[in-house]
Amino acid sequence: MGIDEPKELENELDEEDQWQLYASAEYGSNYDADSDDEDTEVVEEEIWFDGDDFEMDGGNLDWDAPPCPAPLGIAHVIKLGVCDCCLSRISGSSPDKVAIDAGKELRGKAYDRDPELVSKISQEICPLCENLFDDVENIVSRVIDSLSGFEFSTLQFGIHLPKDLIQEEDRIRSKFGAQGSLPLKGALVRSIHERIAKENMDVVFVKERPDVMVLVDGLTLRVDVDVRPVFLYGRYRKIARGIPQTRWPCRSCRGRENGCESCNGTGLQYPDSVQDLIGEPIRSALGASDTSFHGMGREDIDVRCLGSGRPFVLEIKHPSIRDYKLQDLVQLVNENGAERVEVDELSWCNRPKVNEVKSSRSDKSYTIRFRVDSEIDSELVSDSILSLSGTEISQETPKRVSHRRADKVRKRRIVSVDSVAVEGDEVEVTLRCEAGTYVKELVHSDEGRTVPSFSGAIGAECEVIWLDVEDIHY
Ligand SMILES: [Zn+2]
Ligand SMILES: [Zn+2]
Repeated sequence: MGIDEPKELENELDEEDQWQLYASAEYGSNYDADSDDEDTEVVEEEIWFDGDDFEMDGGNLDWDAPPCPAPLGIAHVIKLGVCDCCLSRISGSSPDKVAIDAGKELRGKAYDRDPELVSKISQEICPLCENLFDDVENIVSRVIDSLSGFEFSTLQFGIHLPKDLIQEEDRIRSKFGAQGSLPLKGALVRSIHERIAKENMDVVFVKERPDVMVLVDGLTLRVDVDVRPVFLYGRYRKIARGIPQTRWPCRSCRGRENGCESCNGTGLQYPDSVQDLIGEPIRSALGASDTSFHGMGREDIDVRCLGSGRPFVLEIKHPSIRDYKLQDLVQLVNENGAERVEVDELSWCNRPKVNEVKSSRSDKSYTIRFRVDSEIDSELVSDSILSLSGTEISQETPKRVSHRRADKVRKRRIVSVDSVAVEGDEVEVTLRCEAGTYVKELVHSDEGRTVPSFSGAIGAECEVIWLDVEDIHY
């Protein structure tokens, strides 16, 4: 038996974590001031008093203005050039939302109080948002465009803003804004949410595990949409030999696009794999881009896997459809995999199931048929093999896998030898072994690297003819 231990965990979980971290760091990160920001604050303060940060006619500005909602504070931020959206959010009139109308009204009242005010506005670009609120419409239409054709019910939104803008905004808001004013990033995200909600999209905005993650760059207005994968759990039976578990790139062209002559343009060494026999019909049904296959260990290409089958999680990437009748998917798989691979049922699961499946270790039952390279006494052969039932064996890393596995000795238990049948010079054995037992090596001893072995017990060379995984006791 080949690489029957769970493959080493790949970094996919890490990637996910990083995504989440990145996403959370972006999402409303104005709310947390980390120590870096505090340091900058001190420096900024000095620049502020030097007065060389604002290139504006300082003559009209009242640097000692009180914060909003005091009328003088409102007049001051209007002079600074804040837009109506920012005016509404820092004025104290509607601290928890962005209301352009409320901003307009406040501005009107301020102009009534001081008719000169309008001539004292120092710049047209809002120093708090660089007029980003004007772009909300644009951003939302890009988001909607990017999401068209995808089915989703939850969405996580992140916006990346230039650091200097965030600092500038924070400085002005904390000095002149009303207490509790919503910071720029939170306000922008909220106003984008509100705008998207108006589209009558049936979507819930979440801060973790979204169906769709949207990141907007506030500088370039670039919108990146990441449609998160969906996961299916099941158990497969491989009822034909010569099928690798996962796609196996062509040895000649290393699986390059459009392949080569020797792989008939497929890029694959073997036309079929469990991954694609199961994954392709599902990928196609869900309108997805690709799949990843996570098996609970794997059997060799020439080994069948029977019984209740081997547990796996199929990851379906960028699906357009996130829900599908499971029975129909099972049927599609079984039609596509006919006589090669089959599944009894499938169920939806989440990414943690990948880890669970990959790190699980369970006993397996095998049937193995081998040829003995000398005259044999069937009773003697039977007895020597049965005597290994319940024993522990030592296996050095098999030669055939030693190029990719650390060389070490593993102790594994033969839980039971359940049956031995001798026909001429061929022997068929059914046995149950602990996870990670190299069964082929148990038979032929791998030049003495597996002790004890069938070959050793019989006292003759043994050559494996075929091997089946009869069941995985998961
Ligand atoms: Zn603004
Ligand atoms: Zn090729």
